[in-house]
Amino acid sequence: MARIVQKFGGTSVADLNRIRNAAERVKRAVDAGDQVAVVVSAMAGETNRLVDLVRQASPLHDAREYDAVVASGEQVTSGLMAIVLQTMGIQARSFQGWQMPLKTDNAHSRARILEIDTTLMRQRMDEGVVAVCAGFQGVSNVGRITTLGRGGSDTSAVALAAALEADRCDIFTDVDGVYTCDPRIVTKARKLDRITYEEMLEMASLGAKVLQTRSVELAMNHRVRVQVLSSFEDKPGTLVVDEDEIMEHEVVSGIAYNRDEAKITLRRVADRPGVAAAIFGPLADAGINVDMIVQNVSADGETTDMTFTVGKADLDRVNALLKDKQATIGFGEVICDSGVVKVSIIGVGMRSHAGVAQKMFSTLAERGINIQVISTSEIKVSILIAEDYAELALRALHTAYGLDAIG
Ligand code: ASP
Ligand code: MG
Repeated sequence: MARIVQKFGGTSVADLNRIRNAAERVKRAVDAGDQVAVVVSAMAGETNRLVDLVRQASPLHDAREYDAVVASGEQVTSGLMAIVLQTMGIQARSFQGWQMPLKTDNAHSRARILEIDTTLMRQRMDEGVVAVCAGFQGVSNVGRITTLGRGGSDTSAVALAAALEADRCDIFTDVDGVYTCDPRIVTKARKLDRITYEEMLEMASLGAKVLQTRSVELAMNHRVRVQVLSSFEDKPGTLVVDEDEIMEHEVVSGIAYNRDEAKITLRRVADRPGVAAAIFGPLADAGINVDMIVQNVSADGETTDMTFTVGKADLDRVNALLKDKQATIGFGEVICDSGVVKVSIIGVGMRSHAGVAQKMFSTLAERGINIQVISTSEIKVSILIAEDYAELALRALHTAYGLDAIG
């Protein structure tokens, strides 16, 4: 007997038929003798609808009431899933965040999990009951409903698997696993049987949208075995595991891309100590995430150019902030470019191989693609290029690193 957590995303519970289909998966595990805790998302599109209602009610709404509204999508699907399971002869009951309880801090709309008390849930599971948990939500120390941030039900599921010491956390979704690259762009992309936590973490934060980044972090810290698989097809998915569970590593395991960043260049920045702090301090204070940064050496000994990327959604704010501080920072002009894409190659095998980045640069050079910004870490190389070349670059790199499916 194994104890497993099965998480169903929005498209897997989009209507009653799909909930029935998901319930069949649960039934199969129960019939096989497993103890099952289910975590559900809201029906596809429902959370967007609720967020929209809140914004229409008031753009400057109370964050606690936002959570009260948007958490309701998961309350509905957890109840429906429990009912459908019962019609199949399976004992089931729903658990809302406050009923487990899943305790969080009180950072409403982006709360962090502090602790999950699983005593009641374990009791019921030992009696053969399937615990159907509303994902995405928790309860603060003053008893108010909180939510974990968009896409947070992945995090609910992994946290619950850790708290229940589950053997596995299955994330059922509308894709059948993690691919070497986005198969909508690279038709020769392959599904990976296994991927390491570290690689998955990079893939998720660099743009692959299968799992919420936080959930991967949590899985890595608590060594939760996560499987990403399709709720519509009956075949194994991708296992996210520890590095030592993979015998031999490809040098590059996957390629990710992100179109959500924009490039900002500050021309003729005064080349003096403290200038980087003067630029990035105000951005940090405004809660703006800066990603890639390059600073050139100054040719004249007096000024230099500084280039960095921020989320496209923050671009206008950043532009206004910098113009506001132009005199104090001391620079010539701001140039904004949102026509860029970040492409990243990822692989733990990179640690022990030389020339990995070089292959990336020469592959792009052969296609006449200009690299605008480069950043690296131990297991990834990211470059920024013009958006128009995204697809060409992804396909060329996929071939160059030997990732193409055969046949
Ligand atoms: N329903 C929430 C959202 O759409 C949480 C989730 O599905 O992961 O963000
Ligand atoms: Mg999701």
